[in-house]
Amino acid sequence: MSTTSDRIIKYNPATLELVGELNRTSPDDISLIIQDAKMAQAEWIARPLKERIGILKRLQKHVVLNVDNIVRVICEETGKPRVEAMNADIMSALSATMYSIEMMPSLFQPKNISFGKLSPMMKYLGRRSYIQPRPLGVIVIISPWNYPYGIPFSQAVMAIAAGNSVVLKPSSATPFSGLEVQNAFVTAGVPEHLIQVVLGSGGSVGNALTSSAIDRIIFTGSTEVGKKIMADAANRLTPVTMELGGKDPMIVMADADLHRAAEAAAWGCYVNAGQTCACIKRIYVHDEVYNLFLDLFRDNVSRIKLGYGLNDPEIGMGPLIDEDAVDEMKVHVSRAVEQGGKILFGGQYLEVKGYFFEPTAIIDLPHSSDIVQKEIFGPIVTIHKFQSVEEAISMANDSVYALSGSVWTSDLAMGKMIAERLTGGTINVNNVGYTYGLASTPWGGRGDSGFGHTHGIEGFSELLESHHVHVDRGKFSRELWWHPYGRENLELSHGLLNMIFGGQYSRTMTLLPRMRRWLKGR
Ligand code: NAD
Repeated sequence: MSTTSDRIIKYNPATLELVGELNRTSPDDISLIIQDAKMAQAEWIARPLKERIGILKRLQKHVVLNVDNIVRVICEETGKPRVEAMNADIMSALSATMYSIEMMPSLFQPKNISFGKLSPMMKYLGRRSYIQPRPLGVIVIISPWNYPYGIPFSQAVMAIAAGNSVVLKPSSATPFSGLEVQNAFVTAGVPEHLIQVVLGSGGSVGNALTSSAIDRIIFTGSTEVGKKIMADAANRLTPVTMELGGKDPMIVMADADLHRAAEAAAWGCYVNAGQTCACIKRIYVHDEVYNLFLDLFRDNVSRIKLGYGLNDPEIGMGPLIDEDAVDEMKVHVSRAVEQGGKILFGGQYLEVKGYFFEPTAIIDLPHSSDIVQKEIFGPIVTIHKFQSVEEAISMANDSVYALSGSVWTSDLAMGKMIAERLTGGTINVNNVGYTYGLASTPWGGRGDSGFGHTHGIEGFSELLESHHVHVDRGKFSRELWWHPYGRENLELSHGLLNMIFGGQYSRTMTLLPRMRRWLKGR
């Protein structure tokens, strides 16, 4: 990819062929785009729920019927194998659409609030509270290039299902996939401007967006950029959801099914050429099975074929996104060796057309070394030995990142115990990374991996305002805490406090008639 002042010129990182050129959005246009988004949102939420659900059903159908074309666009921009575009990008888009369609009827239902122990008294007073969920308004989605369709699509469909409009800024490395997301919604029949795509660099158009009067930013990207965006958003107190970097651990216990674990690791470390926030980046293996696991892992990885997998279904790993990423991997490998690491396999840039770097594993590194601690967005994993469960948990949690992770054991009780103690937002027992495609489950990290959730009911709750309505039937003419203040309401307040919170029920019979008289007032 290269950008001139007003054009994005995109090349395929596997073949280095030109994909296409596009105009960048001018930052000066952002305020009009936001105004249009506000109007489209009002029009959208005014449409009957049944009609909105119908449009999302058409959206699902559009993706299913046009899957080959969408996959081609994703593959051309990223160089990823066709099967990965299908299984990750398309599946997560469709899973989120189906989940949204299922959830829409209940999303806007008012929900009564229980007053708990105060309920009988509130009923007597003729009062109730309920939540009327309502859309936030305009949601800005800023997305990365690694899953350029699945990530923004799944976030956009949930935002729109929750009655919002969306302004999407895809990465400049994958603008065509972003436009495909928009195209799907427009074809399905959403109002004009309900989803708009802005193209350009983060520093110009992205910054203009995050500084605008919008209602939430869903940012998926690096921790460093996430911090900048939060600072920009703070000026207007715009709420943010932060889906940031990862450094996922995999713990392999001695009783694990080692064949399954080694196959899982070969996929979990190198899917999308290791350019996945939830890729396995650190493997911890019990001492007793360490050597056997390494053999099985190496054997599985040796069967991964590198290349451009748009038309060859046997290609198992594509290129890195650009030349800078290759240079970064070279630096990481040489730094790891300087810090005492031994290369188990890989470590080389392939001298072919395209940005291909070998799947790489490094052993014997001190846990404090850079390569173990920093996010590496490429096909490099480090492997470590442990003797005890406590040691494994403590090493796995020794990271500023906490996005996801996995534990492998045939003892499910042990697996759950370890999973519950790991810091990541999602921990799998005997599986890895795929729950992003299960839209009913929440996704989100802690620490330098961010905060908040996309997907799941937790994700919907960040797209809706919990609007509280309190209704008083007006049975009484005044309140205990209103003017005029005086001895009587002070005594009544004190009595009420002792009765409700202090459990002093003995004076109830005298207190309540006095209170009723006070409330009836004049
Ligand atoms: P990035 O942070 O460089 O860019 C992400 C997006 O932010 C791009 O669209 C970019 O143009 C935009 N941007 C950059 N500066 C901006 C600014 N100042 N204001 C507004 N927007 C700005 O990330 P990337 O290289 O595209 O993606 C890789 C990163 O994303 C990795 O760190 C990876 O772990 C993370 N990621 C996280 C998740 C998750 O779910 N937690 C998923 C995928 C990727």
